[in-house]
Amino acid sequence: MDFIAIENCSKAFGGVKALKGISFSVKQGEIHGLVGENGSGKSTLINILAGSLSADTGKIAIDGEPMASYGPLSGMQYGISVIYQDFSLFPNLTVLENVCLSNQIKDKKAFFSIKKHSDEVKSLLDQLDANISLSDIVGEIPVAKQQMVAIARALNNNPKLLIFDEPTTALTREEINNLFKIIGMLKSKGISIIFISHKIDEIMEICDVVTILRDGEVIDIKQISDVSIAEIEKLMVGASSVYT
Ligand code: ADP
Ligand code: MG
Repeated sequence: MDFIAIENCSKAFGGVKALKGISFSVKQGEIHGLVGENGSGKSTLINILAGSLSADTGKIAIDGEPMASYGPLSGMQYGISVIYQDFSLFPNLTVLENVCLSNQIKDKKAFFSIKKHSDEVKSLLDQLDANISLSDIVGEIPVAKQQMVAIARALNNNPKLLIFDEPTTALTREEINNLFKIIGMLKSKGISIIFISHKIDEIMEICDVVTILRDGEVIDIKQISDVSIAEIEKLMVGASSVYT
């Protein structure tokens, strides 16, 4: 069963065609890799899935139902959360405050009563084995822990689809192992994952399926068990870029 399905979606910025009629779907509980060179349309696609951009053409279905509203909050209302590459946290606020910022989206006054949510946030962080305290100032904790805060904030919305944009850029190998363990745990709970990376070895390690984007088009969709790193690389750059 597809959690989300996009059909024939296009998006242009002025004269730049960022997406040219792509179709893309993610099944429930699947870890779906998304690869493509810079400018291939990855961010545009996730912004459309998250609702922060609307497509020019095409249809989106979530859990089999047409996505009816668009807007920065619509993705979250549909159970879609993005963990951005820069985490988009507030460095001067505490861990608890950062995680609870997403409560405010549902309830404008929620931010003034966050202490009430300490237990829930603590149990989210325990689930991630994060070992940070609720009162830590986010800008003062290590990057890998900041990422855990961003994941906890996303989980606080009970997402059905989590999108990780280049999540390993600032991590050590050991931290990557830990992140992959967490992503595996989320999958086992039935959450769908989109894992965006240009590191193909990581895609091979963690994903079930990979979609290859090039110049705003879906070039291929491969089961990880049926494809090699070299094949993915070749699909990413295309024949025109092969050195002669
Ligand atoms: P990726 O994330 O794969 O690097 P993007 O989705 O960011 O690719 O970009 C796809 C294309 O759309 C690029 O040519 C980029 O320059 C263009 N683009 C993306 N966002 C904008 C924007 N807000 N205004 C103009 N052009 C944009
Ligand atoms: Mg991008």
